[in-house]
Amino acid sequence: MSPVHRVYNFAAGPAVLPLPVLEQIQRDLLALPGVGMSILEISHRSRAFAAILEEAEADLRALAGVPDDYRVLFLQGGASLQFAMVPMNLLGPDEVADYIDGGSWAAKAIEEARKFGRVHVAASTRAERYARIPAQTELQLSPGAAYVHMTSNNTIEGTQYRTLPDVGGAPLVSDASSDLFSRPIDIRRHALVYAGAQKNMGPAGVTVAIVRGDLIARSAARRAALPTMLTYAVHAEHRSLYNTPPTFGIYALGLVMKWLREQGGLAAVAARNERKAARLYAEIDRTGFYRGTAARADRSVMNVTFRLATEALEARFVAEAAAAGLDGLKGHRSVGGMRASIYNAFPEEGVDALVEFMREFERRFG
Ligand code: PMP
Repeated sequence: MSPVHRVYNFAAGPAVLPLPVLEQIQRDLLALPGVGMSILEISHRSRAFAAILEEAEADLRALAGVPDDYRVLFLQGGASLQFAMVPMNLLGPDEVADYIDGGSWAAKAIEEARKFGRVHVAASTRAERYARIPAQTELQLSPGAAYVHMTSNNTIEGTQYRTLPDVGGAPLVSDASSDLFSRPIDIRRHALVYAGAQKNMGPAGVTVAIVRGDLIARSAARRAALPTMLTYAVHAEHRSLYNTPPTFGIYALGLVMKWLREQGGLAAVAARNERKAARLYAEIDRTGFYRGTAARADRSVMNVTFRLATEALEARFVAEAAAAGLDGLKGHRSVGGMRASIYNAFPEEGVDALVEFMREFERRFG
C-alpha cells in the first residue's frame, strides 16, 4: 500500500489509474532502468523508446486480439480530433456517412463531420435526452454509406451498447473513449475504433486508433488534400513516429496494458467492472430515494448516473461525499445530477464506500 493518502476518485476522465502503475512511474521517474534517463527526457528516436512503443503496442494487440490487418496508431488531439479526422480521411465528396446520435458526444461528432461531408443521422434519441441507446429497428442506414459512426459508451448520459449494432456491410467506426479495454472487444466487427486514453487506458495526451488496412488505404488516397498530421496513412507508415509522439502517455499506457494483462485480461476486468456497476445500480434501485437516469437495458457499466429529488439535495450529496473522500461525483455540467465513473482502475472498496455513504445519506435525508 502507498503511504500517501488517496481519495476515491470517481472522475469521468482523466480518471483513476492503477496504483501499481503510479508506483512504477514514481520509481522509474528519475531514470528508466538501464537507460539512466527519465521517460520525460529520452529521445523519441532512441532505442529505449522504440522498445517502449513496441511493447505497448504488442500488449495492446494481445489484450484486444487485434488482427494483423489492423494498424494501431498512437495519436494526439484527443477523441475530439477524431471527430474531424474520421470524415476527413474516410468520407469522399460523393459519399454519405451514417451517424447514430445516441449521446452528447455523438452529437459533437456529427456537428464536426458536417463540416467535411454529407452526414445522415441514422437514428437519434436526442428527444429523450439520450436516456437510451437507439434500437436496431430504429436504424435507417444509407445504402453504400462510407461508414457508420457510433459511440459505444455515452460518458455523460451513462448509457452503453451491450451488443454492437448490425450495420450490414458498412464499415463500423466506434468512439469507444469511455469503454475501450474495459471489456473484450470484437475488433473484426469494427473498421475503426478510437479512444482517448484518459479513462481506462492511461493519462491524457495520447489517443489510440485501431484502423483496418482498407481504411488506411482510403486515407492514403486522399493524402494530397489532407494536412499531414491529420492523415491516418502518415501515422501508419511511420508507426506513430512521424513527429514527436506523446512519449510519456505511450509509456504510461504501456504500463496500464501490462497491468491489465496481470489482472487476467479483458474478460476478467469486465467481470469485475460488471460487479462494481451491479452493486451501485442495486443501491440506486433499492428504495426510490435515488433515481437512475439511464434506461435499465442500456445502463453503462462505466458511468453510473443518478439523481435526487432536488438540485439542492444533489449539491449537498456531492459536497458531503467529497468531504468523505469520495471525489468527482458531480454529473456533467450539461445534465446535472450525479455520476460515478468506475473505470478499470477504480477499486471495488471505493464502490462499497460509496454505497455505504449513499445509505447513510438516505437515512438522514430520505
Ligand atoms: N467521446 C466520448 C465518448 C467522451 O467521453 C469524450 C471525453 N469525455 C470525448 C469523446 C472527447 O474526448 P477528448 O477530451 O479526448 O477529446
